[in-house]
Amino acid sequence: MKKALIIGGGFAGCAAAHQLALMGGWDVTLVEADQRLGGGCKTLWHGGHPHTFGPRHFLTRNETVYAFLNQYLPLRSCNDHEFITYVEQDAQFYNYPIHRDDIPRMPEKDAISKELSRVTLDGIAAAKNLEEYWIASVGRTLYDKFIDGYSKKMWLVDDNRKIDDFGWSPKGVALKEGPRAAWDSAISAYPYDPEGYDPYFRIATANATVRLNTVVQSFDIPHKTVVIDGEKSTWDIIVNTISPDLLFEKCFGELPYVGRDFHAIVLPVEHAFPEGVYFVYYAGKEQFTRVVEYKKFTKHQSASTLIGLEIPSKKGKYYPLPLTSEYARADRYFDLMPEGVFSIGRAGSYRYQVDIDDSIEQALKLGELL
Ligand SMILES: Cc1cc2nc3c(=O)[nH]c(=O)nc-3n(C[C@H](O)[C@H](O)[C@H](O)COP(=O)(O)OP(=O)(O)OC[C@H]3O[C@@H](n4cnc5c(N)ncnc54)[C@H](O)[C@@H]3O)c2cc1C
Repeated sequence: MKKALIIGGGFAGCAAAHQLALMGGWDVTLVEADQRLGGGCKTLWHGGHPHTFGPRHFLTRNETVYAFLNQYLPLRSCNDHEFITYVEQDAQFYNYPIHRDDIPRMPEKDAISKELSRVTLDGIAAAKNLEEYWIASVGRTLYDKFIDGYSKKMWLVDDNRKIDDFGWSPKGVALKEGPRAAWDSAISAYPYDPEGYDPYFRIATANATVRLNTVVQSFDIPHKTVVIDGEKSTWDIIVNTISPDLLFEKCFGELPYVGRDFHAIVLPVEHAFPEGVYFVYYAGKEQFTRVVEYKKFTKHQSASTLIGLEIPSKKGKYYPLPLTSEYARADRYFDLMPEGVFSIGRAGSYRYQVDIDDSIEQALKLGELL
């Protein structure tokens, strides 16, 4: 049996353990710092309500990945859902992605229409940063209304021109037309199980030695050797899912992240949001970026409802900054990894755009590579 070490038991680490188990011939050890598996996708409970840390719905355009997860963890479609954004200056909720049908309701509708008539593909292609990209895509007025404040809050920056990777934005559609559901061109789903994704984490790691409340104390990555609980061990492969700088004592400097404070609030109403609305984004001065009504995903039956507020902070390595200079720093760490060391997942890839489906896809590719 060949020996594999997996660092981190979030979706990426569990999906990697699962692939190795399906292949057979691997003796897998997974170390997880927390007392439970699942990372940000584990189900938490507050006042009897199940929820995750942030929405964590399964969203994908990859049917293979969907079919893979669905065979182990039946998924319920939530393709009906719309996102809405609150724009305080207009005292209005509008669709997000920005929807053409909402423009007639906006006080500056004439200016917006003029700005939209000047949008050109060349202008969008020439954008060098997030602000230029959005202004080129939808004009200054819509940028100011929907994007400027939100993005500064989201990335804890004072100037959106500092964000020079925006390939992930705005998730494929700058100005939406037609159906108002946010993801009509993708599969959006959430587990039927009241425990959310947790049953999958158990299935995925059933054949692995899982060491909870455990971290690697020191790394010698070039020799695939680590120290865990005072014991030195060498591995045939290492699958990393934590920030790559941590594997090399931050020798090229620390990779920056935006974290999150999370507040769960139970409200004395059965439903807080209208049907079809699962999240509300807040584009203005509010401290939070997003409010999620969890029972929309979980279908939890209760006379009360739980909403979760996400407030950007420095707590936690959740959102790798979309800066090409930091991607270059991450690449220097990846270049230090020898054959047999893989780095996957959101922090492990140091890419904001790595979601649940991408983490599974990375694990599937790892299986093919081995
Ligand atoms: C607020 C928020 C909302 C999101 N919503 C969605 C969504 O709606 N849909 C979607 O597809 N994606 C969403 N994502 C992204 C998605 O959940 C992740 O990209 C995906 O689950 C990948 O998980 P991961 O295993 O890379 O990371 P994580 O889930 O962060 O797991 C990493 C694991 O490593 C452990 N760990 C950390 N340090 C150490 C250490 N030193 N030693 C051992 N273990 C360690 C952690 O405890 C954790 O369990 C969201 C992300 C955030 C932050």
